[in-house]
Amino acid sequence: MHDTPPALPDFTQWPSFPFEGDLRVKQLDDPVSVEPPRKGEGLRECTACNAPDDAYIWVGERWRVRAMDRPTGLPMVLILESRSHLDLGDLPNLLAAELGVMTVRLERAIRSLDGVARVHVNRWGDGSAHLHMWFLARPYGRLQLRGTFLSLWDSILPPISESQWRENLAMVAAWLAEFGGRPLAEPPRIQWQAPSRLAESADGVEPDVEGTVSVIESEEETPVAVDGNTDGYDAEKVEPADEPDPAGVTPTVDEPTPADGQDGVPGRPSARSADTGPGGDSGNWRSAAD
Ligand SMILES: [Zn+2]
Repeated sequence: MHDTPPALPDFTQWPSFPFEGDLRVKQLDDPVSVEPPRKGEGLRECTACNAPDDAYIWVGERWRVRAMDRPTGLPMVLILESRSHLDLGDLPNLLAAELGVMTVRLERAIRSLDGVARVHVNRWGDGSAHLHMWFLARPYGRLQLRGTFLSLWDSILPPISESQWRENLAMVAAWLAEFGGRPLAEPPRIQWQAPSRLAESADGVEPDVEGTVSVIESEEETPVAVDGNTDGYDAEKVEPADEPDPAGVTPTVDEPTPADGQDGVPGRPSARSADTGPGGDSGNWRSAAD
């Protein structure tokens, strides 16, 4: 009934290809005449627009950065979102310019983490109409993770430790906050918990989320909607004290060097409860998928 499947492409022989053994190329479904709406399109609600700021690790006037709901295989996987409900090609010049600045800034922040060799930056946009850029950190020395399959390896590798993950999130959030905005990720408060205890609580909190969250799964995932209305940010354009212009027209701003970021985290907040951060127990992250 089906034609002979095409020969396997060369990349299945690359060292970075995560699978081995007998493989077959899938038959493609027939193309649909009309694609289904993405999140935030047609009648589908936009979970990004509905997500409260505390579902993010850092928030600014026009941009927000979020993490996965739990550690994954890579040292860091983050998503940069515009506050405005726009897709990449629809950004006005101001936001387009800021996207460049924010991309560079976030790349540098993630690359400053211990053990990170490279940060891959991707935009797919097939799951949600609300602009979201992926930042995936490749661990240093892991040459097999180089290139296009990094997002697959994120689901294959064992998750990094919860404490390391939180530490990384706090570092990145503090780094971004050096330029304005608000850091919301916290470093681990106490580190007395045994690994088994951590795993236990992670499983217990969200029984309906199974296994590791991956980039692929997360394409359909944005922070959970809480009460459905966070518009308003488009209107409140001016809040100069909150965040310096991320478009970087202010060359006087000193960007921290990677070494600065490793030596100590400036501006790391200490009083906030760990329960309110992403990955905490508030549930904002964990019940994300709809
Ligand atoms: Zn939206």
